[in-house]
Amino acid sequence: MTKYIFITGGVVSSLGKGIAAASLGLILKSRGLKVINQKFDPYLNIDPGTMNPYQHGEVFVTDDGAETDLDLGHYERFTDENLSQSSNTTAGRVYLSILNKEREGGFHGGTVQVIPNVTDEIRRRMLLSAQETGADVVITEIGGTIGDIESLPFVEAIRQIKYEVGVENCAYIHLTLMPYMKKAQELKSKPTQHSVKELQGLGIQPDIIMLRSEVPIDSGTREKLALFCNVNADCIIQNLNAKSIYEVPLMMEQEGLGKVVCRVLGIEDRQTDLTEWTNMVNRFYNPKKSVTIALVGKYVELHDAYLSVVESLIHGGIANEAEVTIKWFDSEEFTDEATTVAALSQADGIIVPGGFGDRGIEGMILAAQYARTHNVPYFGICLGMQIQVIEHARHVLHMEDANSTEMNPTTTHPVIDLMPDQNGVVLGGTLRLGKFRCALTEGSIAQKAYESQEIWERHRHRYEFNNKYRKEFENSTLLLAGVNPERNLVEIVEQKNHPWMVGVQFHPEFKSRPNRAHPLFREFIAASIANKEKEGTK
Ligand code: GLN
Repeated sequence: MTKYIFITGGVVSSLGKGIAAASLGLILKSRGLKVINQKFDPYLNIDPGTMNPYQHGEVFVTDDGAETDLDLGHYERFTDENLSQSSNTTAGRVYLSILNKEREGGFHGGTVQVIPNVTDEIRRRMLLSAQETGADVVITEIGGTIGDIESLPFVEAIRQIKYEVGVENCAYIHLTLMPYMKKAQELKSKPTQHSVKELQGLGIQPDIIMLRSEVPIDSGTREKLALFCNVNADCIIQNLNAKSIYEVPLMMEQEGLGKVVCRVLGIEDRQTDLTEWTNMVNRFYNPKKSVTIALVGKYVELHDAYLSVVESLIHGGIANEAEVTIKWFDSEEFTDEATTVAALSQADGIIVPGGFGDRGIEGMILAAQYARTHNVPYFGICLGMQIQVIEHARHVLHMEDANSTEMNPTTTHPVIDLMPDQNGVVLGGTLRLGKFRCALTEGSIAQKAYESQEIWERHRHRYEFNNKYRKEFENSTLLLAGVNPERNLVEIVEQKNHPWMVGVQFHPEFKSRPNRAHPLFREFIAASIANKEKEGTK
């Protein structure tokens, strides 16, 4: 019988509900349970795929091509379980399926209503992950904050579901904020009391209350909250600020979260094994080297827009026992060679991540040119790979106006072009999405990093290396290091006679794990450290 845990948030947003949910996933998995995390978001977009990164942060892509909330990245990195289409549901998706059914006459003339139709559809979707994976425990995070109008049907659905799956199989965790008033030197529990009251008014009694706090919560405050919120004192779990998100599961386990969750759900509390995770955190906290990476992009004001890239760089650092410092550069500020060189000479390696549209493109090309001509390690991801190809075409193959047709539809050298099946499609959900095969060229940097002939990586793009120019590039110093065999699409390019200049059409950052860095990130960091050490001897 699958056990269900629902996590809601109270008082304020940005409490780190996703990290808390992911941490709980790891804690339970380390007890030998099969755990799946999922997120239900109350907004009306069908998925975050069409949203501006400034609105929403990164769009995380699953193996099966779902464009999802960035919290799914935390879930995958902490629990090391690959998620799927059913792992992230929005109100928009729920309404879309109901309204399609209504148009097809699926309600047989009945009135279609929030209760029961919308709540039924939410509940149906909440049970899908368990049906697909046979998970012992499903952890469902509800987006938004209790009290939001738009989350009401979701809260009602999780209230109802308790009686569908059995009261003994269902637990509610409410995560709130405990503000610390410096003047009074006091932690304030009133916002939490109000938020729990609000939740109770919606028919839900939380079993566990998690408190985000900057200072440790004393036992008196815990007892007071337990009394006012109808929970056991050991079900008040403090969630203190951590130096790294990867320490949070260890802190939560120490707080007894796993033990009380097992008790509430009637799960036998088995021995936990967090040794590997603990070792990873220790390695992270005790680096032996340091390295500086320049991240050149167009959404740099919001670091969440590149969340998985940042995490993967950190993973690469952990694998190399190195502290990674990221210097953020808005590519629009690279207006000429002098500013580009001045900025980038501070870095040991350069990464150009994904992006859409033409803003900031020329600055990225200058960054790629600098990396190529100065032998600085360069890692191009998706758009960053396309930039590497354009730079090479312009400055090595002398195709002066070479470009992607996304940026310049009338270029005489469309070295990056729209895939034929992408002509005239609607915007949402139609990119080349999800995992595809890639055959690696023997002896390439990529093949040595992966130690494999064939890999599967996740994609999210519309434009592609233009095979019409393949010969020119092959006869030049650009190695085509990876090709999708089914459609003959170039997936990886490498600069020959360069220490490490690799561009990938896919998004390796979605598959990196803190205790198992993605091979390309691991090797990119290693090359950047080598570059730093070489410079040091100059
Ligand atoms: N805009 C480019 C494309 O659609 C790159 C996409 C990306 O970087 N994710 O192909």
